[in-house]
Amino acid sequence: MAKPIIMTIDDEPHVLNAIARDLQAHYAGDYQIVRAGSGTEALEAVQEFKRRNTPVALFLADQRMPAMSGVEFLAQAIKLYPESKKVLLTAYADTDAAIASINAIGLDYYLMKPWDPPEERLYPVLDDLLSDWLANVPAPYDGIRVAGTLWSATSHKVKDFLARSQIAYQWLDIERDSQALALVEATTGGQPRLPVVFFPDGSTLVDPSLRKLADRVGMPTQAVQPFYDLIIIGAGPAGLAAAVYAASEGLRTIVIERDAAGGQAGTSARIENYLGFPQGISGADLTRRAMTQAKRLGAEVLTAQEVVGLRIEDSYRIVTLDDGSELNGHAVLVATGVKVRELDVPGMEPLIGASVYYGAASSEAVNYQGRRVFVIGAANSAGQGAMFLSRYASEVTILIRGDSLTKSMSRYLIDQIERTENISVRANSEVTAVSGSHHLETITLKNNLTDETETVPADAIFIFIGAVPCSDIVAGIVERSDTGFILTGPDLKREGHPPRNWTLKRDPFLLETSVPGVFAAGDVRHGVVRRVASAVGQGAVCVSFVHAYLETV
Ligand SMILES: Cc1cc2nc3c(=O)[nH]c(=O)nc-3n(C[C@H](O)[C@H](O)[C@H](O)COP(=O)(O)OP(=O)(O)OC[C@H]3O[C@@H](n4cnc5c(N)ncnc54)[C@H](O)[C@@H]3O)c2cc1C
Repeated sequence: MAKPIIMTIDDEPHVLNAIARDLQAHYAGDYQIVRAGSGTEALEAVQEFKRRNTPVALFLADQRMPAMSGVEFLAQAIKLYPESKKVLLTAYADTDAAIASINAIGLDYYLMKPWDPPEERLYPVLDDLLSDWLANVPAPYDGIRVAGTLWSATSHKVKDFLARSQIAYQWLDIERDSQALALVEATTGGQPRLPVVFFPDGSTLVDPSLRKLADRVGMPTQAVQPFYDLIIIGAGPAGLAAAVYAASEGLRTIVIERDAAGGQAGTSARIENYLGFPQGISGADLTRRAMTQAKRLGAEVLTAQEVVGLRIEDSYRIVTLDDGSELNGHAVLVATGVKVRELDVPGMEPLIGASVYYGAASSEAVNYQGRRVFVIGAANSAGQGAMFLSRYASEVTILIRGDSLTKSMSRYLIDQIERTENISVRANSEVTAVSGSHHLETITLKNNLTDETETVPADAIFIFIGAVPCSDIVAGIVERSDTGFILTGPDLKREGHPPRNWTLKRDPFLLETSVPGVFAAGDVRHGVVRRVASAVGQGAVCVSFVHAYLETV
């Protein structure tokens, strides 16, 4: 952590040099002494300190500066550093201005020129102010800070990515924190673009793409090798399990993930049924362990890189990324999972990511402390989401279309929900409309037995309503079911015959698609049990078929 700053501002070089020399002599061990020749120059520096989150302990400004007086400078500087001590350097004639500014800007002291000898007239005053400052100002946060509003979808996206990538950050809500607002305005020139990400070195990113952000925080986004034995698309449980086995068995392996690693499992607050974790494990923890294991064994994992196409050229499988780059390999595993089905309700679209969320949105839950939230869905993921949200929200209402949870949710979760006082289940209910200008304000519910509607206040909605496969990138290349799930192995056979265009003498391997050397595993596959253990098992098993395939190319 950088030393706190004492800043002195004076337009007369000989006065500036003299005061800086005296400050240096007494305070250089514990503070950085920074000097500026004008109020404007000083304000620019102050904005830079704030971007770096470097504390400023004290401003010592000369009142008599032609372009911007000391008081005018201090009035601006305290918008970013209200807790810093403010001292005005004055001549006798400035006394009235100094006294007036005690009330106007909370001036801590005015110091008459000359201040000689400093041991008597300067240091005792400043020592006292600095010890007061030290006692009352908490140490600043030393990491990445994200400033935005709770209602900005782009802020949510950035927070979610950092949280899911296990990168610590501090959230600054500019609607509640005037210093953060001033800093954002100074950085964006007043443009309404959010979030602003502040890094400890003073650099910033305004409304960054996930790739820019990933690059900036040092996460790999570009492939290192020119060629891979196995290219895995998707870093959910299936993709990461395949990476662990493939890399550990010596295959040149890369995983490409469009978001943060972890897949759906990574968004789960607690996975209770994965073998070997008797207390359950959070999706974030499982992901962290799997990522560490895959990388330790030699797999490359790129995040914030979306695969947009797959091409087959002889024995090469060529994967195109959305930045236009291509990766070449012998075998490809499609482990792209499923994504939530979107809910089409009037008024909802503009609120997505800003109080209406798909999935648990764990980085947001804390913002709904003491508020009223709704969970839509009746499966386990909705139950887990409701349990998680009940730690923060005052009321969690689960909306289900059917008359009970018993057909769709595991018993252990139903029991937990029943035991949780602030969760209620509203059966036979559908959302027919939502409203709110910047964030959700009301939700309209229809009872589908009586057709009666009711509009109630709501602070947030979390949606868990089933899934559609992420298989568009292989549409027209490999065979899929009517609903878009990828067909593999025996599912490809029609009346005992291999798939159309299949030229090999052997049948497709268990997890192989209708294109040799292109495999699928996990939730994106047709007919699977959609569970973490199932995805992990398929990812692991798939690697033995990849070996068998590689022997033939
Ligand atoms: C909230 C929630 C809670 C759950 N709880 C449990 C539980 O308790 N127990 C249990 O067994 N199961 C649970 N599940 C189900 C389980 O998480 C899934 O079955 C499992 O994650 C499937 O793994 P997967 O690797 O096949 O796919 P996913 O987890 O969906 O991962 C696929 C990955 O591929 C990426 N991707 C997609 N398209 C592309 C592309 N074009 N380019 C690059 N990357 C791409 C996605 O971003 C994603 O990260 C839960 C699911 C949810 C949503």
